Amino acid sequence: MTVTPLLEVHDLEVTYKLTRGHFTAVQHINFSVNEGEALGIVGESGSGKSTVGRAILGLAEATAGTITFDGRDITRLTRRERQKISQSIQVVFQDPRSSLNEAKKIRDILTEPLVTNHQMSKAQAAERAGVLLERVGLDRAALEKLPGNFSGGQRQRIAIARAFMPSPRLVICDEPVSALDLSVQAHIMNLFLKEQEETGVTYLFIAHDLAVVRVLCERVVVMSAGRIVESGVTEDVYTSPKEDYTKKLLAAVPHPDPVIQHERRKAWIELMNSQNAVLATS
Ligand code: ADP
Ligand code: MG
Repeated sequence: MTVTPLLEVHDLEVTYKLTRGHFTAVQHINFSVNEGEALGIVGESGSGKSTVGRAILGLAEATAGTITFDGRDITRLTRRERQKISQSIQVVFQDPRSSLNEAKKIRDILTEPLVTNHQMSKAQAAERAGVLLERVGLDRAALEKLPGNFSGGQRQRIAIARAFMPSPRLVICDEPVSALDLSVQAHIMNLFLKEQEETGVTYLFIAHDLAVVRVLCERVVVMSAGRIVESGVTEDVYTSPKEDYTKKLLAAVPHPDPVIQHERRKAWIELMNSQNAVLATS
């Protein structure tokens, strides 16, 4: 039996219009993600990772190629059609400081998209928001507060709760831990893992740090200068990279401060161990 991938990206190209001329940010991008899988995209800053994510979300226009979601071509959708599938494809961005509307209570941030879409009544949506806040490790009382009351890590938890509100099938995570303190990163990664175990959600997980991707993703694609230069099982790419670019990416000292680097390593080792423990007992 052949499995139809949940997401298929075929020969994707995105060319941005500049005030003078054009710039092709990504080209010949091919990959697919099966339902329930997590695929990582890694590469240095400017390699085109976010552009790929934005094209899938309909935020950047695909100038060539196709994007198929659940067997349907979603490369060019009308606003209305895009709105319909926006429930199924959610996103968590990098910066939890700018991704939440400061003027709105957490209750409204979480419930408005569902209520506006007539998916749920206000009461139903608020109930679900409470459940999700607890699932991401926050108190229900957060519903009545403004984003300004929360730390970066807590705000990212809220952004994750928002992403999971409509029971999405695919969540695109664009550097979701890069802006967080090292001690918080492992907790948030654990949360992504837990959500996947609970809901079977599919992830497209973008990061410049291969160590982060390794925690969550079975497979990874490596991007450089707008193209995929290497792809495969994450463990294989991590332990025996084929391309010089990937080797350099792995060799790059992630943090110049040895104390911070040591802390980070410790956090990751703890997380990897706890994850192995989870896998061993399940
Ligand atoms: P990454 O996420 O890997 O850091 P991006 O996808 O954000 O990379 O950017 C890839 C390239 O496209 C970069 O050179 C960037 O400057 C350029 N770029 C991104 N967005 C735009 C835009 N809206 N207009 C023009 N160029 C852009
Ligand atoms: Mg980016």
